[in-house]
Amino acid sequence: MNAALAGLHHVTAIASDPQRNLDFYVGLLGLRLVKRTVNFDDPGTYHFYFGDARGTPGTILTFFPWPGARRGVRGAGQVAATAFAIPEGSVGFWLERCQAQRVRVERAPARFGEEMLRLADPDGLPLELVVTAAALSAVSPAVQPWAESTVPAAHALRGFHSVTLGPLGGGERTAALLTEIFGYQRVREEAGKRWRFAAAAAGKEGVGRLVDLLIAPEDSPGHVAAGSVHHVAFRVADEAQQRAWRERLLGLGYHVSPVMDRTYFRSIYFREPGGVLFELATDAPGFTVDEAPEELGTHLRLPPAMERERAQIEQILPAITLPRA
Ligand code: ZN
Repeated sequence: MNAALAGLHHVTAIASDPQRNLDFYVGLLGLRLVKRTVNFDDPGTYHFYFGDARGTPGTILTFFPWPGARRGVRGAGQVAATAFAIPEGSVGFWLERCQAQRVRVERAPARFGEEMLRLADPDGLPLELVVTAAALSAVSPAVQPWAESTVPAAHALRGFHSVTLGPLGGGERTAALLTEIFGYQRVREEAGKRWRFAAAAAGKEGVGRLVDLLIAPEDSPGHVAAGSVHHVAFRVADEAQQRAWRERLLGLGYHVSPVMDRTYFRSIYFREPGGVLFELATDAPGFTVDEAPEELGTHLRLPPAMERERAQIEQILPAITLPRA
């Protein structure tokens, strides 16, 4: 029997211009760039990891910025929105901040009683900022806002609130995967529109514990490119659990990748029945495996096997500047 999954680990999306991507997530949203590396499958491209001060699992949004990448097409079989938690009393701050920087933002109707804002990143990636009660705000030790952020700690994003999936063909099969296999519980429902699931193993205050499914049958399948989420990763405690998960998923008929060494975690990938690429990622070793906590994100880090090509890689990668507070 596998231990239930403990919520979201990270979300990976596709961007176009790397500097514009940094300016938005560090300069506007105030996240920390916790790792500046390359796409291990395409080392001429950056891989940026944004998160809290330490890159805590459940706070990490990562990007492959491909300069000139075309925009994706929104539709079924995709992540419809990625939501960050914000503290109570921060809606006004975020509305004003986005408007001052000419980023389109709108106050959306409360969902399940939670106030929220809707915006998109420069590539059109749909984002939500959801006011999350005290559990996830200043008192939670799970998320540590970055002291050098461009955003005051009182208003800092507190990791993922949820992702909303828009599965192909309605949500039934994805829902079954979440509840019967992943150990999630169905906790809320918006009749005929949306189901909400919570990772019981994440605990009530756990960061990134929610997954929403849009259950209204979607029109046509989307196409993943710039402005789309590429995959959603869930947390497994360690490599032994990951191996057990791999065996179990293979036994259920899923096509599961071999274990991949992503330097900061180990990963397996498979496609869920609604069409979204899922990953199970280990908490360890984390982002301080090759950089001191105070240095996170300041230098280009490469896996040991790519160090020999560092000069070449650095020449290909576009120059970037980290926004400062
Ligand atoms: Zn990933």
